[in-house]
Amino acid sequence: MRPFPPESSAAAKTRSVRRPAAVAAAAALLTAVASGLAVTAAPSMAAACTGYVALTFDDGPTPGNTTNLINTLKAAGVRATFFNVGQNAQSNPALVRAQRDASMWIGNHSWTHPHMTQLSQAQMASEISQTQQAIQQATGTAPKLFRPPYLESNATLRAVEAQFGLTEINADVDSQDWNNASTDQIVQNASRLQAGQSILMHDWPANTIAAIPRIVSNLAGRGLCAGMISPTTGRAVAPDDNTPPPSTPPPTTTPPSTPPPDPSGACTATYRLVSSWTGGFQGEVTVSSTAAITAWTVRMTLAGGQSVSNVWNGVATGTTGTVSVRNASYNGTLNAGGSTTFGFLANGSSSPAPTGLTCTSP
Ligand SMILES: [Zn+2]
Repeated sequence: MRPFPPESSAAAKTRSVRRPAAVAAAAALLTAVASGLAVTAAPSMAAACTGYVALTFDDGPTPGNTTNLINTLKAAGVRATFFNVGQNAQSNPALVRAQRDASMWIGNHSWTHPHMTQLSQAQMASEISQTQQAIQQATGTAPKLFRPPYLESNATLRAVEAQFGLTEINADVDSQDWNNASTDQIVQNASRLQAGQSILMHDWPANTIAAIPRIVSNLAGRGLCAGMISPTTGRAVAPDDNTPPPSTPPPTTTPPSTPPPDPSGACTATYRLVSSWTGGFQGEVTVSSTAAITAWTVRMTLAGGQSVSNVWNGVATGTTGTVSVRNASYNGTLNAGGSTTFGFLANGSSSPAPTGLTCTSP
């Protein structure tokens, strides 16, 4: 399954950036260091990076490749984004967890690596949904980024991506590693990376592994550091180690006229339909508390033919009929007046909506 991304698509995305300023800043820093001037209270890591680029690796995880790739990246002191093929993730969940445990970021690269634009909308949704589920099941977190195989996309695909809350990521620079590029050629291609951009590489080529230390060295010499891809902008940015779990909004405050808490009903749950497609839908439940709580459980009753296939920001018991969802480890504690959400994917028609929502807190 060799990817074959069109070079034109990658090249068309290239943007100009303020290189001279970045170079000047890096040069000034080097001058200051070389001349022995004290760089007062400078956070050394932040000061060394005048811009961020994203190293991306598609098509894994695969036994025999991914572990070596992770170790090479760790040895080079960089983090990268892995766009996993869903069925590979399903077959190798331990490798997906290894990516996560190595502080790599994980994106969705479809289930079977098809030419997505040749699929029906329902098939597109299936390719994306199954991969979201496989990665969520392996790591506990569903991806926020989607890279279409062969970098082929259209309006229908982008609409499906949006249904799953995914940001489409192309590539500014094509390493050509899929095209038997030599290690020298891969390093040369990576040297074109500018701040904010991402480079397309793959999980499997040996030449890519060999190129990584030289790529990182080249970037460092230009003041560029390896960063994450912002789900908001699709551009490479500084790593955010405080990234909240997906779909978890900041706590909100209710007006002071809130009635006094009733211990037996310290939380409430409300449902909304996020999106629907043929044969499935995505729902979201908001849990609001009227008193400080440390755990919550929501029960809801699905209509006939509906079955939950995936839940995030919560842990589900049951898939049909009355389904119980308790908080995840990180969103059970709510202040009085606080709220959180969990989301789910379900098979079946979105109508009628789930009924009988109740929230209880021990
Ligand atoms: Zn691919």
